Amino acid sequence: MARGMESEEMLKSTASSLARRRLISLTGKAIETPHYVAVTSRGVVPHVSPDVLARHTSIKAVYFGLEDFVEKSSVDAPILTTSQTLEKTSDGSALHKFTGLPGRIATILGPRRVPRVTCPAQSTDKAISICTSVGFRSLTAEDYLHAASSLRPDVVVSMADIADTDTISRKRTEKMVDRTHSWFTEAASELAPTKARTQLYASILPLDNVQQQLYLSDLADDESPSGGPAGLALYEFEAAATLPAELSEHARFCISNPSTPQDVLRAILSGADLITTSFVTATTERGIAFAFKFPPPQSSDHQQLGIDMWSTSHATSVTALSTECTCYTCKRHHRAYLHHLLQAKEMLAWTLLQVHNFHVLDKLFVAIRHSLDAATFERDANAFIACYADAFPAGEGEDRGPRMRGYQMRSTGRGEDQKRAKAWGRFEDPSGTASGADSPSAAEFENDQARKVSEAIEGGGEAQLALTADDFEHLGLAEKVKESQ
Ligand SMILES: [Zn+2]
Repeated sequence: MARGMESEEMLKSTASSLARRRLISLTGKAIETPHYVAVTSRGVVPHVSPDVLARHTSIKAVYFGLEDFVEKSSVDAPILTTSQTLEKTSDGSALHKFTGLPGRIATILGPRRVPRVTCPAQSTDKAISICTSVGFRSLTAEDYLHAASSLRPDVVVSMADIADTDTISRKRTEKMVDRTHSWFTEAASELAPTKARTQLYASILPLDNVQQQLYLSDLADDESPSGGPAGLALYEFEAAATLPAELSEHARFCISNPSTPQDVLRAILSGADLITTSFVTATTERGIAFAFKFPPPQSSDHQQLGIDMWSTSHATSVTALSTECTCYTCKRHHRAYLHHLLQAKEMLAWTLLQVHNFHVLDKLFVAIRHSLDAATFERDANAFIACYADAFPAGEGEDRGPRMRGYQMRSTGRGEDQKRAKAWGRFEDPSGTASGADSPSAAEFENDQARKVSEAIEGGGEAQLALTADDFEHLGLAEKVKESQ
C-alpha cells in the first residue's frame, strides 16, 4: 500500500460489481464513500454562502479549479498574494481561509473547473490552456505546483493533458500520457515535503496504450523516491476498469460531469469512491427541485427526477417541495413561496432550492451506502434506472436562471448566441432610433411621462400618474407572469 494510505481501510466490496464501500481520509478528514464532491465556482458553492453551507447542508468535500482565481497570471492571482499574508498570520490552509470555508470541509484543488470549457489552444510540454475570467491563458506545471503548495488544499490533483477534440491521433494520445506522467512525477517531488498536510492524487486519462501502462506501473511502484500517489483522479469513470490490481486500494476520485443521479449510479457501479456533481447547481439554476429517492418507489409509472418550480401550477400550493424531506427549505417554506421568489427573480429562490437539492443528494448517497452494506446495490441501482426518466424535466426556467452569461458556461462554438436578451441596452440610445417599434426608448418613455404629468396638472390634479405593468415590462425592469394554462 502506498504511503499516505494508512488511515484508509476497505469496509466492504460487492462481488457482483466494482462498487465498493470505503472510509477515505482526505488529509485527516474521514469520508465514508461512495460520496459526492460539491463543485465550486469562483470560490463558493453557487448560491450557498459559507455560513449557509455550514448550517444547512451536509457537504463534506468541495472541488476548486485554480483557473477560477487566475486573471492575467497565476503568480499574481489575488488568492495567492492574499494567501501569503494569511499564511504568515495563522495556521491552517490558506485556501480555507481565503474562501471562508468551515475547517471540517475537505478541499480538493485541480487546475481546471468542472465542467471545463474547451480551450482553442493545445497543451505544450510545460503548460495547459485554461479559461479565466479575462480569456484564455496558459498555466505552467511550475505555476500550478507553486499555487498548490501556497494554498495547501487537502488534496491536489496533478495536472493532466486532456485533448477536448472528437478525434485524437495515436501520436497525440501518447503525448497526452507522457506529459501527464511527467507532470505527476514533478508534482510528487515538489509536494513531497508537504505530504502530511496535502495529499497528491494522480490524474488518470481515459486511455489504454503502452504509455498509460508504463505510467500506471510507475504509480504502483512504491520504491520511487517521492512515493506513490495518495489517490487517483479519473476523468472518466470507465477508466477504473483499466487500473491494475496494484492500484486497486487507492481512492478513486471521479472528476467527471454526470448529468443525472443515474450517471452517478453508473460511476459507482464502475468503482468510483468520490464523484463531482455539478448537475446539482445546473438543475437548481433551472428552477428544478429534486424529487427522486433511492431505492426507488415501487410503482409501475415512470417517475420524474424533479419538479419544475417555475410552473404556475405551484402558484397557490401551500405544500412543501417534498412532504418527506426534512431540509430547511421543506420545513419552513411552501411551493407557492418558492414559485413567487423565482418569478420575482429573488436570489433567495436559488439558495432555498440549492439547500433542498443538496439535502436530497445527501439522502441518495446515504441510501447508496446502506444498499452496498446490504449487498442490494446493483439491484437497487437497476431498479432506479428503470423507474425514473432519463433526464431532469427541461422546465420553464431553462433560460431564465441566474449566471446565464458567465464565463463558466459551456460554449458550443464561436459566435454562440447569448443566453438572454439584453434588457438594459435601451437606456444607451437616447434618440430611441435603434429601439424596436414596440419598445419605447428611455427618451420616449420620459416624454410620455412628462405628457402625463402636464395632463394631470391641467386636469386639476385629478388624473393619477401611475406606471402600469406594461411600462415596467417595456423598460426591462420586470416581466408579467404568464397566465395559468
Ligand atoms: Zn427539502
